[in-house]
Amino acid sequence: MTAARVALVTGASRGIGRGIALALAGAGHDVVVNYANNRAAAEEVAGLVEAAGASAHPVRADISVAEDRARLVAETFRRFGRLDLLVNNAGAGPRQRLDLLDADEESFDRTLGINLKGPYFLTQLAARRMIAQVEAAPAGAPRPKIVVISSISAYTASTNRGEYCLAKAGLSMLVTLYAARLAEHGINVYEIRPGIIATDMTGPVRERYDELILERGITPIRRWGQPEDVGRAVLAIAEELLPFSTGQVIDVDGGFHLRTL
Ligand code: NAP
Repeated sequence: MTAARVALVTGASRGIGRGIALALAGAGHDVVVNYANNRAAAEEVAGLVEAAGASAHPVRADISVAEDRARLVAETFRRFGRLDLLVNNAGAGPRQRLDLLDADEESFDRTLGINLKGPYFLTQLAARRMIAQVEAAPAGAPRPKIVVISSISAYTASTNRGEYCLAKAGLSMLVTLYAARLAEHGINVYEIRPGIIATDMTGPVRERYDELILERGITPIRRWGQPEDVGRAVLAIAEELLPFSTGQVIDVDGGFHLRTL
């Protein structure tokens, strides 16, 4: 049986997206499990979503590519007929971390394409369908929502991956723009800013972050973040716990953003 609510989670095959997909499935959302290349991992997540009693639909789509974005949204509606939550989670760091003075345009275009252009235009496609869905729904029906997973890199300078920081800072304005534009349709938009989360993305820098977190206390809450921490924040949004908030930034970072003296 198909559950009433449908979530599309980009980059749901691994890491944070996986944690979000499983949190949503546990609360009865059917989930479109988007991935770029790793089909086996996406199918594993789909199996776990189904084990939780929801339906899953794995869809390969590179969010930096226009045709793939269109197919991803079309597939969502073909399979489930509706979209209640878009989670723009997929992201990637530069292939090589290069100092600002050495960075090249190819990496800039790739990084901005995946982390900013992709979510910007995927949100546009989803928002058009959501508006039509709202207009066709009975009064008082729950409204669709949009979540963007940005990063502490939206405001923290890492001079060896400037293109990633720029993309994440741009996502903050994406949220502000869409929150302002979609409020009249009752569609709330939220930015979730994870801190340092244990995933494949942070695998290569694990030892350095171990020291920063556990020994130097870079996060007042002295532990690594887990994908489930982000999943819970998304769930709070999905469950309508923040109905009078839009354009809101939710830090899921163990207090990294706090200034202390
Ligand atoms: P991850 O473990 O590297 O997983 C990345 C996910 O995104 C995978 O599912 C991957 O699919 C997918 N993906 C990558 N490029 C894609 C593309 N072009 N189109 C569609 N899907 C694509 O990363 P993560 O740590 O979970 O990060 C998830 C999000 O959180 C990213 O936006 C990241 O910037 C953000 N974030 C992470 C941290 C952290 O500490 N980990 C902190 C702050 C923010 P495949 O499996 O097919 O490759």
